[in-house]
Amino acid sequence: MEKFYYSVSIPVPLRKDFTYFSYKNIKTGSRVKVTFNRRKLIGFIYKKTTEPDFKIAEIEEILDEIPVFDNISLKTLNWVSDFYIHSRGEVFSNFIPPKLRKDFYLEAPSKKFVEYKINNKDKCFDLTSHQSKAFKFLKELKGFDPCLFHGVTSSGKTEVYMRLVEEVLTRGEACLILIPEISLTPQLEQRFKRRFGDNIDTYHSRKTAKERLETWKKAQSGELRVLIGTRSSLFVPLQKLTLIIIDEEHDSSFKQQDGVKFSARDVAIKMAQDRKIPIIVASATPSLKMLHLANKGKYKFVSIPKRVNDMDPPKFSILNSHFLDRSSGIDSNLIPLIHKTISKNKKVLIFINRRGYSPVFKCEDCNWNALCNSCNSRLVHHKAIGRLKCHRCDTSFGVPSRCPECESNKLHSHGVGTQKIESFLGEEFPNVPMVRLDLDSTRKKGSLEKLLSEINENKKALLIGTQMIAKGHDFSDVELGIVIDADLGLISHELNAVEKLSQLLIQVTGRVGRSGKSKIIVQSDLLDNEYLNILSNGDYLSFSKFLLEEYEAANLPPYSSVAILRASSPSINKNINFLKKAREYLEKETNCECVGPLPDIVSKIRGNFRHSLLLKTKTIPTLHKNTKSLVEGYIEKQKRLNVRWSVDMNPIDYQ
Ligand SMILES: [Zn+2]
Ligand SMILES: [Zn+2]
Repeated sequence: MEKFYYSVSIPVPLRKDFTYFSYKNIKTGSRVKVTFNRRKLIGFIYKKTTEPDFKIAEIEEILDEIPVFDNISLKTLNWVSDFYIHSRGEVFSNFIPPKLRKDFYLEAPSKKFVEYKINNKDKCFDLTSHQSKAFKFLKELKGFDPCLFHGVTSSGKTEVYMRLVEEVLTRGEACLILIPEISLTPQLEQRFKRRFGDNIDTYHSRKTAKERLETWKKAQSGELRVLIGTRSSLFVPLQKLTLIIIDEEHDSSFKQQDGVKFSARDVAIKMAQDRKIPIIVASATPSLKMLHLANKGKYKFVSIPKRVNDMDPPKFSILNSHFLDRSSGIDSNLIPLIHKTISKNKKVLIFINRRGYSPVFKCEDCNWNALCNSCNSRLVHHKAIGRLKCHRCDTSFGVPSRCPECESNKLHSHGVGTQKIESFLGEEFPNVPMVRLDLDSTRKKGSLEKLLSEINENKKALLIGTQMIAKGHDFSDVELGIVIDADLGLISHELNAVEKLSQLLIQVTGRVGRSGKSKIIVQSDLLDNEYLNILSNGDYLSFSKFLLEEYEAANLPPYSSVAILRASSPSINKNINFLKKAREYLEKETNCECVGPLPDIVSKIRGNFRHSLLLKTKTIPTLHKNTKSLVEGYIEKQKRLNVRWSVDMNPIDYQ
């Protein structure tokens, strides 16, 4: 019998493939069961190969009737593995539904074509002239032709997406709409279903393993042609995929922070390139990176500068809260304004980027601070459940009645989180419906949908939330927005903090005020802050021009490229030593600029200290070459490593 030899990519943290044989001819991209180090694992046929000169094992089982990845997906995935310098097997495994990571046999689906009916009642209105211009422009994109689609908040970008999707469906083709966060799916899904019927699917980590497998199969059969999903949905096998839309392109949730540290936006762009199809990256607050590419003419650019109702987005006013009483978190001068808004039967939105009751729990007598013993981070008081919680490792602790250092009973919490605002406003406005939207209030399945519908059921209401509330949702009748502690972003160590804060503030304006009478008040101690003053016009594009000039002068991304080598271990010395040697290697062998070793922004987590070395070069290809040289020429040559390491290309949090 003829023997076939295969390079199999196995999901283990080793950047190489392993050779196995089979008497069967197996297609590349198929899953197979193999024995690896005496364990049964699910690997992927990467390519055919020749007989090696060492003993090899036989593939035990072929798990796919047709490959889980077609050849173009394999090409893109291979790029992901190479670019992010990550094990190919782990990359493959990352993008399939959980059930397929086990030895689940996947039969070939019977091909099915389903017509989508357009609900014309739902689209019985004309696009605004700006929308219509954008639609015509985007419709004409052919082949790989990335386009940055900017539209101010409430400019009706979703309607433009839907018109584009309609075109794709009429041609019998499929499209993928990528969104950053699960919290955005319910409203978008509803709108799409209203327009295109029930054959719209979503794919994200809150779906059960079974649901995700079903979606995968429906896509494979050709039945599903519109998918709305988060970054894990990238390689769902939509047949005849001819358009990718990335909504809220700037959002940092597109970057996976654990395991394969990929940016779903950047992978989607590569995917569109490999498939030679158009990709639309859209946002009201585009990332500096995309704006830079558009400015250089590498990407096309189209913009909707006006809201659907022709109103200007609300302007900010900045309230200097330095000398005012704000023990409740909200400046007392704002209370009458909230009363006035509520009495007009309108909603007030309060944005604060911190969940829990208050972020500091300390002793008045000796200044002892409650810290997590494995992360060194401050414990946040969650008053409702009577616990102190670490937001890094999720461990919770009892609330001590006496200080563990000096036995004093003067223990108090300081600072403000969403729950404190909620409890303060609950006392001040006892009869007003109130909704809190944060990670704690939306943990349970279905709770987010429930809260969102609660918000729109009421005319007057107080909405309190973290960045979850700032993103993409449509709330009716919000006339006043209050931003608490904008300063947190401006005084942060992260290099891209200002970019992130400005995006967040503009996104808040999007949730507020469709009426023209609306206002946004930003509480800040930094009254003379240049950034806030420029941004207060609500004009993100002008602000970003100013920011891009600053970044260019400072040679920061997008004008340079950075990667991080991170070390983690229970020993600071071991981390530093490892990174110092890495730096020596880079300085000798490459032309990389290095910063560090430095303690990471998250300097300790679950008992492990974290340190990082920043690598910087002018262009991405040079950065990639140098980083790869470091991994292959130094790290992978070490016999024994006493730290855990990872590489993060184009990191989003760095200092
Ligand atoms: Zn004390
Ligand atoms: Zn912790």
